Amino acid sequence: MYNVKSLNADEFINHEEILETLEYAEQNKHNKALIEEILEKARPKKTGRGVECAGLSHREASVLLACDLPEMTEKIYDLAREIKQAFYGDRIVMFAPLYLSNYCVNKCVYCPYHMQNKEIPRKKLTQDEVRDEVIALQDMGHKRLAIESGEDPVNNPIEYILECINTIYSIKHKNGAIRRVNVNIAATTVENYRKLKEAGIGTYILFQETYHRESYEVLHPAGPKHNYAYHTEAMDRAMEGGIDDVGLGVLFGLDKYRYEFAGLLMHAEHLEAVHGVGPHTISVPRLRRASDIDPTVFDNGIDDETFAKIVACIRIAVPYTGMIISTRESEECRAKVIGLGVSQISGGSRTSVGGYAGYSSEERPHDTEQFDVSDQRTLDEVVKWLMDMGYIPSFCTACYREGRTGDRFMALCKVGQIQNCCHPNALLTLQEYLQDYASPETRKVGEAMIDREIQNVPDPKRREKALEYLDKIRNGERDFRF
Ligand code: SAM
Repeated sequence: MYNVKSLNADEFINHEEILETLEYAEQNKHNKALIEEILEKARPKKTGRGVECAGLSHREASVLLACDLPEMTEKIYDLAREIKQAFYGDRIVMFAPLYLSNYCVNKCVYCPYHMQNKEIPRKKLTQDEVRDEVIALQDMGHKRLAIESGEDPVNNPIEYILECINTIYSIKHKNGAIRRVNVNIAATTVENYRKLKEAGIGTYILFQETYHRESYEVLHPAGPKHNYAYHTEAMDRAMEGGIDDVGLGVLFGLDKYRYEFAGLLMHAEHLEAVHGVGPHTISVPRLRRASDIDPTVFDNGIDDETFAKIVACIRIAVPYTGMIISTRESEECRAKVIGLGVSQISGGSRTSVGGYAGYSSEERPHDTEQFDVSDQRTLDEVVKWLMDMGYIPSFCTACYREGRTGDRFMALCKVGQIQNCCHPNALLTLQEYLQDYASPETRKVGEAMIDREIQNVPDPKRREKALEYLDKIRNGERDFRF
């Protein structure tokens, strides 16, 4: 039976509840009065504490996703843009993945790291290689990484992951520093989550892949990842281990997207109900071609329009949750979904183990790649492209370093302090990037943007302080934050 507070996967991601939700959504997909009512509920409202949003339940959001009336779809997109603007403004946080090891004992049928794939050479970075990769990433301008690894208790035990995290944080090359390491590794024990927390990780990210238990078991035929309940309950263990920023995601293309969407939101509701804080981020990866993987054999692929609608509906349903898109998506698709709700993107990414050091920006090693990268531009090109569209690329990592994680981060959103905090932080970190890593053209566009945008910090004292910090950065000092 469905129970949002249960710690049993089959109860908080309840199959019958999802089927009933989909049925309800189908019956109401043209019910204009109801859709208007749902949109009204989700609209940002001014309260004594600033601007707040109520969000939506999985049922309500599923009605919006099912609705195919063009005029209503426009209203859904408009509301998603309005919510995005209210909480994220024009800021887009930048990150890059760092692949540590492709050794894996699972048999995920969509992933080229599956243990039976003999086409890819297996590789695991040594600490010296981690160092080289991190220096290459710092030299691009990155401050925030997501580390990725296959699951292999012998080759990539938790001690190896912890050692890598340590190495990453220890490297200070020129003005570079990795200030936040997010971790995307397989589901593990409370004890290991505690160790990750102690190592100072940012978000623990784990994609559910699919919320459909039967499909899940077929798609993960062997290995530890076969255990659906263990995987689905991982975020509860992570939170029990003290990690209060967790990142959800499904791999779109594996099962029916409306099912996944309802499951994803039920998972978010569950975390909120049990731990008092929802997911910090939601990722929306789509299946890509890879070494011995042909995505066309999975028949649940979604087109760009449906993908955009999913992003918009997530933005409306969980207004305070960051949304991440990777270089799996093309420049064109990224441009569209950034406007509708995405708040974090990767840039200059390599999805191979050891893909950064020793390669020029044009060269890319394909042999150990996890999936084909669609957006192959350099970080500098992505940064300039964002600014040309009016977005502010942000390398900010302040919240986590100031201890504003979990519900403390949400509180910042709710009291409307974002414009006095995130906005100047974005500009300060952009200034660092321009100074240390940008091409002359990007720097010119960025300097003009900073001069203009700094005026939009509402609190005059904060604005003055930010101007002082900007001056200091221009004179060689680094790492200021609010
Ligand atoms: N091994 C860990 C796990 O199982 O969660 C870490 C994650 S893996 C390195 C990162 C993610 O890549 C997976 O969770 C999966 O969603 C995604 N992925 C795997 N194969 C993919 C493909 N062919 N196209 C796009 N994404 C893929």
